[in-house]
Amino acid sequence: MADIIKLLPDHVANQIAAGEVVQRPASVVKELLENAIDAGSTTIKLIIKDGGKTLIQVVDNGAGMSETDARLSFERHATSKISSAQDLFNLQTKGFRGEALASIAAIAHVDMQTRTADHEVGTHIKIEGSKIVSQEVVATPKGTSISVKNLFFNIPARRNFLKSDQVELRHITDEFHRVALVHPNIEFHFYNNGSEIFNLPIAKHRQRIAHIFGSKMDGRLVPVNEETEVVTISGFICKPEFAKKSRGEQFFFANNRFIKSPYLHHAVVAAFEGLIKSHVYPGYFLFLAVDPSSIDINIHPTKTEVKFDDENTLYAILRSTIKHSLGQFNVAPILDFDHDPNLDTPYSYKEKGAVLPKVTVDASFNPFEEATTKRNHSGSGFQKQSSRGWENLYEGLGHQSETDGFSSVVIESENDGQGTLYSEESVEEHLASTFQLRRKYVVSTVKSGMLVIHQSRAHERILFEKFLGEITVKEGVSQQLLFPLELTFSKQELTILKEIEESLTNIGFAFESLEEETVKVTGVPMMVPESGIGMVLDRLISDYSEGFADGSISQAEMLAKALSRNLAVRTGDVLDQESQLTLVNNLFACKEPTLSPFQKITYTIISEGDIDKKFN
Ligand code: ADP
Ligand code: MG
Repeated sequence: MADIIKLLPDHVANQIAAGEVVQRPASVVKELLENAIDAGSTTIKLIIKDGGKTLIQVVDNGAGMSETDARLSFERHATSKISSAQDLFNLQTKGFRGEALASIAAIAHVDMQTRTADHEVGTHIKIEGSKIVSQEVVATPKGTSISVKNLFFNIPARRNFLKSDQVELRHITDEFHRVALVHPNIEFHFYNNGSEIFNLPIAKHRQRIAHIFGSKMDGRLVPVNEETEVVTISGFICKPEFAKKSRGEQFFFANNRFIKSPYLHHAVVAAFEGLIKSHVYPGYFLFLAVDPSSIDINIHPTKTEVKFDDENTLYAILRSTIKHSLGQFNVAPILDFDHDPNLDTPYSYKEKGAVLPKVTVDASFNPFEEATTKRNHSGSGFQKQSSRGWENLYEGLGHQSETDGFSSVVIESENDGQGTLYSEESVEEHLASTFQLRRKYVVSTVKSGMLVIHQSRAHERILFEKFLGEITVKEGVSQQLLFPLELTFSKQELTILKEIEESLTNIGFAFESLEEETVKVTGVPMMVPESGIGMVLDRLISDYSEGFADGSISQAEMLAKALSRNLAVRTGDVLDQESQLTLVNNLFACKEPTLSPFQKITYTIISEGDIDKKFN
């Protein structure tokens, strides 16, 4: 048999490598920004068009390249950053593989202009799909400007796989944050479709964080500093009360490189133990400096995963350092988040004095009486007693809504009894027969047996359908605020807010001056309490940005989900009698009453047969 193994042509090899290095526009942004930093730049401009699909350009004022280097830089494994394997253990630069430019040039149209300080004129190179189209002399400032156009032009499958411009822009912004956060000594500008979205002057770490995430962030930061033989830790954690439901503002940098480390993340969360609930995440910006020889960043081509020599020690140091900071800045002791609402005394009971338990004695009971009379007698006695006990259970509940100052959650009726589970009269009849079980379930009776409704899931379903309807038909009722509320948002949050503004307006929100960091809220949907506006918007934005990144679901659905999740009653909320009924009625008026918007079962019916079985 003839030999069949051949070496792949370079452009094919490059295209294959590109698959690993370049997943989306954001990967290109990362590589170009890192090259600019490695070149010693002090000012870097990032220019994006259409989520990076049309243009990604990075302009720097760094060292630049000679004519030959400019050509060579697009060859695979061509790098100025390491020359021997030994150098891998002492990396001072971000790049070292010499793969990025070769990969990018294999799958896009690349245009580069570059000049070093000791040359009068620079070089202009054009490359398309690994082929050099032209190279000529050009007058250009010192430094390098690289434009990447038509990404994946020769891999349609990849190009089609890209998400909307907004989503790609968000990925790019994430990369930009990671780079900009760790280099506050470099000035950054970021332009998207012609407008400047970030202008970051040279600053200290803390200011850089505030410039990126908005000035409100400044007040939330607690400094962290520790120097040991193994590691030097600096940076900031966010105060526990600002922990968020979504991940996002969690940054680890090791030797000035953004890294992901579930293990170290766990160390931080462990330090916050007892200060935050289990489903929220603390924010942090932590910079670790370790001996370059004790860290291996080579294990993944996109280089966010690293391996530390002594992870266990690192974990312990990190955890205790953060604990120390939390204590030192007096963040820890004043908070009481681990509060179990099930242990609260219901408000309606608070004012009541203690009541002595009574023993009811059936004075007429005579065990020696005739069997027939006995059965009658004790039978009725039993019944009476039990029904009284049953009523007693309801005594507090029936009055709850009227008792002064009682602040239970009230679910407003959305539909006027149309299409409800019960007809008008049967509502009356059922008035006494819904009750709340462990502040989690609403229990009622139906023909076939006992209906048990999960209160928070059911309410989510009701609100979800309500909001979905309002967003699409634009009929939300707005409650005008007497005094507009001023809220501050970061640039990124503002971008999202603008994206969803129309839907928010449809359901009753009204905004002024959405262009600046401080937004005026002039109206809110009826359901949103004035005190909760900031929180609802914050959560909405973070839910939305999380959900949107992973899914193809419509904006309306996404928002309706986020709103329902944030506004629904929760486990632990006391519902008055009327609210319980409204909940039952509204749930069964829904199009899809069986499932919550998050695909969880909302209710179950325990049939009479099931109950009978228990008594067998
Ligand atoms: P790596 O960064 O891993 O070395 P790249 O493919 O990203 O590989 O870049 C190849 C080489 O091109 C670099 O080693 C560097 O010498 C040069 N280079 C790339 N971008 C720039 C830039 N913005 N300024 C100066 N030199 C650059
Ligand atoms: Mg590089």
